[in-house]
Amino acid sequence: MDMRSVSYPRCWLATVISACMLGLPLLASAETAFQYEAPAIAPESASGYTEKPGWATERFAVAAANPLATDAGYQVLKAGGSAVDAAIAVQMVLTLVEPQSSGIGGGAFLMHYDGDEVKAYDGRETAPRAASESLFLNGGGEPLEFMEAAASGLSVGVPGTVRMLEMAHERYGKLPWAELFAPAIMLAEEGFEVSPRLHTSLAGEEKLREDALAGSFYYTEEGEPLPQGHLLQNPALAAILREIAENGSKALHTGPIAEDLVYRVQGHPDRPGAISLEDMATYVAKERAPLCTDWQDYRICGFPPPSSGHLTIMQILGILDRLPALETPLEEDLPSTEWLHLFLEASRLAFADRGKYIADPDFVNAPGGDWSSMLDEEYLAERAELIGEQSVGPDGAEAGRPGGVETAWATQPTQPEYGTSHISIIDEEGNAVAMTTTIEAAFGSRMLADGGTGLAGGYLLNNELTDFSFTPLGADGTPIANRVEAGKRPRSSMSPTLVFDRETDELVASLGSPGGAAIIHYTAKALVAMLEWGLDAQEALNLPHAITLGGPAYLEEGRFPAAVLEALNELGHDASERELVSGLQAIQRTDDGFFGGADPRREGVVMGD
Ligand code: GLU
Repeated sequence: MDMRSVSYPRCWLATVISACMLGLPLLASAETAFQYEAPAIAPESASGYTEKPGWATERFAVAAANPLATDAGYQVLKAGGSAVDAAIAVQMVLTLVEPQSSGIGGGAFLMHYDGDEVKAYDGRETAPRAASESLFLNGGGEPLEFMEAAASGLSVGVPGTVRMLEMAHERYGKLPWAELFAPAIMLAEEGFEVSPRLHTSLAGEEKLREDALAGSFYYTEEGEPLPQGHLLQNPALAAILREIAENGSKALHTGPIAEDLVYRVQGHPDRPGAISLEDMATYVAKERAPLCTDWQDYRICGFPPPSSGHLTIMQILGILDRLPALETPLEEDLPSTEWLHLFLEASRLAFADRGKYIADPDFVNAPGGDWSSMLDEEYLAERAELIGEQSVGPDGAEAGRPGGVETAWATQPTQPEYGTSHISIIDEEGNAVAMTTTIEAAFGSRMLADGGTGLAGGYLLNNELTDFSFTPLGADGTPIANRVEAGKRPRSSMSPTLVFDRETDELVASLGSPGGAAIIHYTAKALVAMLEWGLDAQEALNLPHAITLGGPAYLEEGRFPAAVLEALNELGHDASERELVSGLQAIQRTDDGFFGGADPRREGVVMGD
């Protein structure tokens, strides 16, 4: 079939435009509580590290990766909206102002606490029905290069963020769904100033320029990235958001907007993908049982598989806890070499298990029949015993046997992961949200979709399917748990986390981060820093990072004395420096209310009253 012949009606827009032109009340009417006012927000400096003050609030707080997005959530909370209401407003603004990281073309995980119960909502992208385990293999059976696979139609999963938010809103929404779109629609129509980070991301991007729509939307005629401060309007996104505001997720998953997505994915000039209208229409968000794990005086609740986040974080923290306590985990306000050694070794062990066992639970069984086997006390004690004075070194850690049974999976080799945004919110009634949201790599599949409007702009399609293992089998022919299968959700590292006091059951913190697989290290260290070392949310987020996915170790560039790097190398870590751009946001409860921190490495801020 000639994919270009897939037709989609462009006339649908006429109804939207004429309604807008006539000033018909598609959104907030005069008698509703929420009236959005676009703020004047000064852009931050373009530097990679901006000191943040930390923010104390009394009644509610919202933390997100961009000031306009945080402000939209703040205005919703101020108007009496719930944490979920605010999350919806934040996400829609992020689609517009931080398009490189998340949006309506991607997926997300949302943890919710309503003062009584914790729930986990899964809006992860799914592989189309027509996908097979050879999705990312070339004609010779070799895996494609990462960017060949990512910047293509192959990598696009059926998006799930909007359906997931709709599911959460049905339960926890207080303000009408449509009103929550007002901030993003107004900013898309009137324009917003391109932020330093968006500008820098555009400047560093090659493939996006090649996309028919994105190339002319985000770059000047001379091929320059839009400058910082440029007032950018996105009429296509405004029209799409109006449709979703009016008609819910079905406006995205069926009809002309879905037809346009399918047309673009199937019509990719180099490597077309296989998403069908049926895939779009039948996407379901899922409520999953959250994983809650006791650790020291706290109960830490996080996302279950298909995320590897909580299990891997809690393996690291659980292993550390079973090692003799260090006298100086912090030295001159930095994690000490001794602590870094143990943290990296625990990470090597945890990532070995992650690579073997964790994948979509609708397709693979947990080791021993239950994911809790991976956090079993005796099992973690056995794993902790493997840590010695020297590092096991790159690829020296092997997966264990949680649950005591041999599971026939081959270990997935490590692959790059990037992108993403984290939102933490606590509303006045004590409802809390921790939501991590992604289109996977920066600018996802590098395909902008205008929803068939024919207007300038649109939203970016994800490349989430590259979170599957490119190779379906290990060297000996054993299947890899996280291989591509039709209708499956790729393994994630996203770690939206809610922390409770074990004794009082009170909410203690909401946090999470982007950063690919390093989300796990960023979040684990922030938890240790806040809960064990007693740092406040901002101090905890400022601490420099150290990571390993099992191979070499990396220290955050320019943040540790040279002696630390040398010492880790003497211990066998094969360590070097590199940029480690987390985007942590955290809100913690204090005696007077809340204290929020935003990552100094990105543009996030916290607001509240
Ligand atoms: N796609 C990744 C995941 O779901 C996140 C990418 C990132 O944070 O950079 O784990």
